[in-house]
Amino acid sequence: MSYVFPLAQSAVPVVGSKDLFPVRRVYCVGRNYAEHAKEMGFTGREPPFFFCKPADAVVAVPANAVGKIAFPPKTENYQYEMELVVAIGKPGRNIPVGQANEHIFGYALGLDMTRRDLQLALREIGRPWELGKAFDQSAPMGPIHPVAETGIMSQGAIWLKVNEQMKQQGKLTELIWTIPEVISNLSEYFSLEPGDLIFSGTPAGVGRVNKGDVLVGGVDGLGELAIELV
Ligand code: MN
Repeated sequence: MSYVFPLAQSAVPVVGSKDLFPVRRVYCVGRNYAEHAKEMGFTGREPPFFFCKPADAVVAVPANAVGKIAFPPKTENYQYEMELVVAIGKPGRNIPVGQANEHIFGYALGLDMTRRDLQLALREIGRPWELGKAFDQSAPMGPIHPVAETGIMSQGAIWLKVNEQMKQQGKLTELIWTIPEVISNLSEYFSLEPGDLIFSGTPAGVGRVNKGDVLVGGVDGLGELAIELV
């Protein structure tokens, strides 16, 4: 049996390996840093929630390269959200918090790119967020660092610069829901499978970018992710 046409498998390089990590699903956590929740008009005490992007929204940007990302249509307010991405390597449902780290394949740097004007307009009228969050090339990310190399990540700085100006600065210790809590909670709603990615939320300082801007972000231990908007 073959297919009526070929379809590319979305995939991300793995540091130290020739093999790629195939992307199955992309989950994102909303409002997982208190200061960001506040800048979005909330108190910072609400439980985080999840939304999804399609697997092919991922753009794998090699280490030490500048990924070219097309400025998207239908927005006057295109924004960055620098995030730690968790790659799942072991299936599970109803995963206890204490066992959640065993399901981590590795970590990567990611940008949850957002058409903020569309997202907020949809939020306002209670409609789904796809047009604001789940569009083409909305998930640029760096290579995956295997957990065997990084160890479990629970602290360290997360930051983003736009045109060399610091815009976002946070710490992983400021996550409202820790990575194990996110994995555990998400697995109550969905069967997690190898190939799933979780964008874990962004610290405060999100903002608008324009064509020609260069975004460089990092998390301690994972190097840097760089993209240019073209
Ligand atoms: Mn986000």
